[in-house]
Amino acid sequence: MKKRAVFFDRDGVLNQDIGYLYKKADFVWMPNAIEAIRYINQKQIYVFVITNQSGIARGYYEEEDVKQLHQWMNEELAKYDAHIDDFFYCPHYENGNVEKYAISCNCRKPKTGLIEQAFSKYEDVDRQNSIMIGDKLSDVECAETAGLRGIHYKGENLLNLVQCELRNRNS
Ligand SMILES: [Mg+2]
Ligand SMILES: [Zn+2]
Repeated sequence: MKKRAVFFDRDGVLNQDIGYLYKKADFVWMPNAIEAIRYINQKQIYVFVITNQSGIARGYYEEEDVKQLHQWMNEELAKYDAHIDDFFYCPHYENGNVEKYAISCNCRKPKTGLIEQAFSKYEDVDRQNSIMIGDKLSDVECAETAGLRGIHYKGENLLNLVQCELRNRNS
């Protein structure tokens, strides 16, 4: 049995985009983001985050900071009986300062590498009925290149948006 997935961009969709966020003290959930995630969980649909984190390549913070922030997000969500199934991030940036990450990769959105990583790791995902929500047009482009419906988020109530979009996609 295949499971649908909702792919979320992180900054500007699940949390306020303050630019190169990595500290939990600076993290502010977007309106009804937690409720939206819980709603998707209850529908037995995967919740994945796919996020460009070029701050790693730029030397602003490290992979470990990103992993810790993501772990903390799930600890916060657990207080509301919600969870993110997995996080996929791109640490790269071609003109970055940290040599190891300063490459032209295939995972920095709008490239589709992060979505493909999720599909490889979770083989039961129903690609045709999965969606991706992002606040940049590059997110929408990424989704469409990967064969998903891409939704451009503009700061509205995330729960309403998710309910509406999932209803549009049968069951
Ligand atoms: Mg964003
Ligand atoms: Zn990358």
